[in-house]
Amino acid sequence: MPSTLALSLPVKGAQFTPAVIERRPLRDNDVRIDIRYCGICHTDLHFGHDDWGGTFFPLVPGHEITGTVAEVGDAVTRFAVGDRVGVGCMVNSCGKCVPCTSGEEQYCTEGFVKTYSDRDHDGTVTLGGYSRTIVVADHFVLRIPDALELAGAAPLLCAGVTVYSPLRRWQAGPGKNVGVLGMGGLGHLGVKIAAAMGAEVTLFSRSPEKKEDALRFGAAHFVDTRESGELAELAGHFDLLVNTVPAVLDVDAHLGLLGLGGTLVNVGAPSDPIVSYNVFSLLNSRRGIAGSTIGGIRETQEMLEFCAEHRIASEFEKISADRVTEAWKNISGVRYRYVIDIATLGTA
Ligand code: NAP
Ligand code: ZN
Ligand code: ZN
Repeated sequence: MPSTLALSLPVKGAQFTPAVIERRPLRDNDVRIDIRYCGICHTDLHFGHDDWGGTFFPLVPGHEITGTVAEVGDAVTRFAVGDRVGVGCMVNSCGKCVPCTSGEEQYCTEGFVKTYSDRDHDGTVTLGGYSRTIVVADHFVLRIPDALELAGAAPLLCAGVTVYSPLRRWQAGPGKNVGVLGMGGLGHLGVKIAAAMGAEVTLFSRSPEKKEDALRFGAAHFVDTRESGELAELAGHFDLLVNTVPAVLDVDAHLGLLGLGGTLVNVGAPSDPIVSYNVFSLLNSRRGIAGSTIGGIRETQEMLEFCAEHRIASEFEKISADRVTEAWKNISGVRYRYVIDIATLGTA
């Protein structure tokens, strides 16, 4: 088996240590990728802390991967050695169910295979992008447009598509008032993408020091959620709220911000996922609560082209591999994504 170097968490709560891991020999439709950059998504921390239970340890996280093609299997026609590519949160799915055949692999009825901490169809446990190389079936490999740099593009593979997908589905665009709740990795891309779609964007944040950035990213308004009374003033104002906060929300207070037929879409995933609301918060203005998970492969490619056209990339702080443990501890301090420079990991 070809081996490669990775950053591994041996058990919950441990520090990252370099480890040699194995990647499968190339199958006919596989692409081997030399990873250049990997973003640190808050979901990596949820897995590392085993917030949702069932994490496979030792864990190699990372699903915001960019790099170049190192080798392709005999049946691969869409990619060639040297191509700039990316991998997001999915590396396999059944390929046969209705969601899979309609380009929504993220809702595969058998469950898509996650890029890390999952069991692949061949029984092996998946290991993610905090590593030098990865082998992925060509269907799950994305092309990075020339206009995007690989470091700033990496967070688009998860954070970018996770906000792009609900913004498209709920038709963010001219004449629409869109609120983004929380401005970390997902939220800052949500502001940029919703503004580029033509919506009037409001950022809801508990961090007033982010106001200037939010306006620079395209928000028209900033609401400090720690100021009491701010939410009541905006009652009924919004068509769509995209909630990226990884903590339990006061659902009724936020539903009250929506106008007739407005929707609150949750993409943030708190460790305690139970929320409650008063049903009249929905009935009164035919409001909806929804959720959304990443985006399909076709949609992810569409999002990358959209970002290239609108010159949208993640704001990021590049870090070396030996700083990842520290970066996890300071996840709320980064503006707005840590991106690991994989070249600093060394070679196996
Ligand atoms: P992040 O970079 O840590 O940003 C989260 C932001 O939420 C923070 O910057 C902060 O923004 C706000 N926030 C954090 N803790 C809060 C609290 N206790 N109360 C209120 N606000 C808080 O995280 P991320 O990478 O953007 O991910 C956000 C969430 O989305 C995570 O739960 C992650 O697992 C989930 N996620 C879901 C999907 C999906 O497919 N649905 C995909 C990727 C990630 P302010 O300072 O502006 O308030
Ligand atoms: Zn993610
Ligand atoms: Zn399927």
